[in-house]
Amino acid sequence: MRDVWNTESLAALDKAHGWHPFTQMKAWCADDHEPVILVGGEGAVLRDSRGREYLDGNSSIWTNIHGHGHPKITGAICGQLDRVAHVSFLGTTNAPAAELAGRLAGLFPAQALPRVFFSDDGSTAVEAAMKMAIQFWQLSGAPERRRFVSFDQAYHGDTAGAASLGGIGAFHGRFAGHQFPVDRISDPEELDRLPGGEIAAVVIEPLIQGAAGMRVWPKGLLRRLREKCDSIGALLILDEVLTGFGRTGTMFACEQEDVIPDFLCLAKGLTGGYMPLAATLTTERVFSAFLGEFDEQKTFYYGHSYTGNALGCAAALASLDVFREEHVLETLQPKIAAMSRLLAELQSHPCIHDIRQCGFIAGIEVRDRGGEAFPWQARTGGRICEAARKHGLLTRPVLDTIVLMPPLCTSESQLRSAVSAIGLAIEEVCGR
Ligand SMILES: *Cc1c(COP(=O)(O)O)cnc(C)c1O
Repeated sequence: MRDVWNTESLAALDKAHGWHPFTQMKAWCADDHEPVILVGGEGAVLRDSRGREYLDGNSSIWTNIHGHGHPKITGAICGQLDRVAHVSFLGTTNAPAAELAGRLAGLFPAQALPRVFFSDDGSTAVEAAMKMAIQFWQLSGAPERRRFVSFDQAYHGDTAGAASLGGIGAFHGRFAGHQFPVDRISDPEELDRLPGGEIAAVVIEPLIQGAAGMRVWPKGLLRRLREKCDSIGALLILDEVLTGFGRTGTMFACEQEDVIPDFLCLAKGLTGGYMPLAATLTTERVFSAFLGEFDEQKTFYYGHSYTGNALGCAAALASLDVFREEHVLETLQPKIAAMSRLLAELQSHPCIHDIRQCGFIAGIEVRDRGGEAFPWQARTGGRICEAARKHGLLTRPVLDTIVLMPPLCTSESQLRSAVSAIGLAIEEVCGR
C-alpha cells in the first residue's frame, strides 16, 4: 500500500518550527512557498509527498553514491539494527566499526594510512584532523607549528575549526573574529612567502573545490602541493568529503596524482549516503606520536557521542561491497564520457558561460549574454534549479553554477533527461 501524506499539515509544521541550513527562512516560510517534502526514493529517483518524481541531481547534497533504497545497504542497516543500533566507542568497540577501519585502511597501498578515527560529518572529520595536527606538533617538539594554510574559496565545513579554513566570504566572513590561525593561498608556490616552520598543516579539496562552484584544479597541482609540504615539513590534509568514493572517477581523488596525504577526511559518500558517518585516516607516523604512558598525557582528547556508530559502519561496509560486486568504478567510466558529451550539447546557450567537469561531478555556470555575472541578488542559479524541478530534476546551485552530480548508479538516459531539464530551465529563466 502506498503511504498517504498530508502535505499541507507537514508543510505547515515545518514552516512553523523548522530551521533549515543555508536557507533564508523568511522566504522559506512565505505563504506562496510550497516546500518539496521528500518521502521516498529508489535508485537515482526521489519521490515527494504529492507523488511527483525527480532525478536526485545533486545526490542529496553530494552524499548518495549507489542510489536510494539499495537492498544491500538497506539490508545491512536493518541487519545491524536487529543486533544493536549504537554502542559507545569510548572504552568499547563494535564489530562493524572494527571491520570498517580495516577495510578503509586496506584501500591504500602499503598501509600508507593505517589508522582510522571516526566522527559524524565532514566538518568533524576536518576538525579532528586539525586538532590531531596541532597536537602532533606539540608532541613532536615543534609547538610553534600551529598555523594552517588553506586555499582561496575553500570549503571544509561549518564547525568553528573547519570553518576557519573556509575561504568563501558569504559563509565564513561573519565568523572571521573567531578563527584558528589560517593563511590563505591560491597556488602551492605561495607557500614560499609564508614562515614554513610555523605551519602545522596545509588543507585542500583535491582535484575540485565543491562549494566554490565546482572549480577544477589544474592537473599536477596536488602533486606539487605534496612536494611543497614535504619540503617545508608541513603535514597535508586532504578533504575528500566530496571527492571520495568514486565521484571523480577513481575511488579517491588523490589516486589520480599519486599522492598520499598525512590526513584523509571522508564523510558524505562513506555510507553510500545513508547514515551520517565520517572518518579521518592518518599515517603511522602521526599515530605513533600520540602513544605513551597514561601520565605522559599524549592522549587525543577528542570525540563525539556517536563516534563509530554501528549502523553507519554497517552501511559503509555494504557500500564498499557494492563497489566491488557491481563493478561500480568500471561501469562509471562510460557514464563520465556520456556526461561530457551531453554537457557539450548544452554549451550553445548564450548564457552558459562555463561547464566544468571532474569525473561524475559537473558545474554549469550561467552569466548574462555579455559574459558578466548576474547580480547575486537575482538568485539566477536558484531560480534555474527551481524551474528544473518542473522538468523532473532536483538540484541546488552554488551561486550561479548549477550542480549536476547524480548518484553513480544513474543511467545514461537519466543523465540525458537531467541535462535536458537544465537546458529547459535555463531557457525559461534566461530566455532562449
Ligand atoms: C560538505 C563538505 C564538508 C562538510 O561536511 P558536512 O558533513 O556537511 O559537515 C567538508 N568539506 C567538503 C569538501 C565538503 O564538500
